[in-house]
Amino acid sequence: MIVMVRAEFKCVECDIYLGMGGDCHHLTYEHFGNESPHELQYLCRECHSVKHILKYNELTETWSDSIRSFPVTNLDELTPSYLP
Ligand SMILES: [Zn+2]
Ligand SMILES: [Zn+2]
Repeated sequence: MIVMVRAEFKCVECDIYLGMGGDCHHLTYEHFGNESPHELQYLCRECHSVKHILKYNELTETWSDSIRSFPVTNLDELTPSYLP
Protein backbone atom coordinates (compact mmCIF):
# COMPACT_ATOMS: atom_id res chain seq x y z
CA MET A 1 0.00 0.00 0.00
CA ILE A 2 2.78 2.44 0.95
CA VAL A 3 4.42 1.59 -2.36
CA MET A 4 1.32 2.64 -4.32
CA VAL A 5 1.01 5.90 -2.42
CA ARG A 6 4.70 6.66 -2.85
CA ALA A 7 4.36 6.03 -6.59
CA GLU A 8 1.22 8.23 -6.60
CA PHE A 9 -0.69 5.24 -8.01
CA LYS A 10 1.35 5.46 -11.19
CA CYS A 11 3.72 3.01 -12.84
CA VAL A 12 7.25 4.02 -11.81
CA GLU A 13 8.55 3.10 -15.27
CA CYS A 14 6.10 4.59 -17.75
CA ASP A 15 4.13 6.96 -15.46
CA ILE A 16 0.74 5.63 -16.54
CA TYR A 17 -2.01 6.05 -13.92
CA LEU A 18 -2.96 2.70 -12.38
CA GLY A 19 -5.09 3.49 -9.35
CA MET A 20 -5.21 0.32 -7.25
CA GLY A 21 -4.91 -1.90 -10.32
CA GLY A 22 -1.12 -2.03 -10.63
CA ASP A 23 1.40 -4.66 -9.60
CA CYS A 24 3.96 -4.53 -6.80
CA HIS A 25 7.25 -5.89 -8.00
CA HIS A 26 9.95 -7.12 -5.61
CA LEU A 27 13.45 -5.89 -6.38
CA THR A 28 14.64 -8.51 -3.91
CA TYR A 29 12.99 -11.31 -1.95
CA GLU A 30 15.63 -11.03 0.77
CA HIS A 31 13.17 -9.55 3.26
CA PHE A 32 10.04 -11.17 1.87
CA GLY A 33 7.05 -10.51 4.13
CA ASN A 34 8.95 -7.67 5.82
CA GLU A 35 10.01 -5.62 2.82
CA SER A 36 11.23 -2.06 2.97
CA PRO A 37 9.30 0.19 0.58
CA HIS A 38 12.44 0.77 -1.46
CA GLU A 39 12.54 -2.94 -2.23
CA LEU A 40 9.22 -2.74 -4.04
CA GLN A 41 8.22 -1.02 -7.28
CA TYR A 42 4.70 -0.15 -8.38
CA LEU A 43 4.35 -1.17 -12.01
CA CYS A 44 1.78 -1.67 -14.73
CA ARG A 45 1.33 -5.14 -16.15
CA GLU A 46 3.52 -4.49 -19.17
CA CYS A 47 6.48 -3.01 -17.30
CA HIS A 48 6.11 -5.74 -14.69
CA SER A 49 6.37 -8.53 -17.24
CA VAL A 50 9.41 -6.80 -18.79
CA LYS A 51 11.04 -6.81 -15.34
CA HIS A 52 10.45 -10.51 -15.01
CA ILE A 53 11.84 -11.28 -18.45
CA LEU A 54 14.96 -9.25 -17.58
CA LYS A 55 15.18 -10.97 -14.21
CA TYR A 56 14.75 -14.31 -15.89
CA ASN A 57 17.53 -13.56 -18.37
CA GLU A 58 19.85 -12.46 -15.55
CA LEU A 59 19.13 -15.60 -13.64
CA THR A 60 19.62 -18.00 -16.55
CA GLU A 61 23.34 -17.81 -15.79
CA THR A 62 22.83 -19.48 -12.44
CA TRP A 63 19.52 -21.34 -12.70
CA SER A 64 19.67 -25.06 -13.18
CA ASP A 65 19.39 -26.55 -16.65
CA SER A 66 15.88 -27.85 -15.99
CA ILE A 67 14.60 -24.37 -15.12
CA ARG A 68 16.57 -22.79 -17.96
CA SER A 69 14.70 -24.98 -20.44
CA PHE A 70 11.35 -23.45 -19.43
CA PRO A 71 10.02 -20.95 -21.96
CA VAL A 72 9.78 -17.42 -20.55
CA THR A 73 6.01 -17.47 -21.01
CA ASN A 74 5.79 -20.12 -18.27
CA LEU A 75 7.62 -18.01 -15.71
CA ASP A 76 4.39 -16.98 -13.97
CA GLU A 77 3.61 -20.63 -13.30
CA LEU A 78 6.96 -20.97 -11.51
CA THR A 79 6.07 -18.13 -9.16
CA PRO A 80 3.71 -19.05 -6.32
CA SER A 81 0.54 -16.99 -6.57
CA TYR A 82 1.15 -15.24 -3.25
CA LEU A 83 4.28 -13.60 -4.68
CA PRO A 84 3.34 -10.34 -6.34
ZN1 LIG B 1 4.48 0.81 -16.94
ZN1 LIG C 1 7.42 -8.78 -9.91
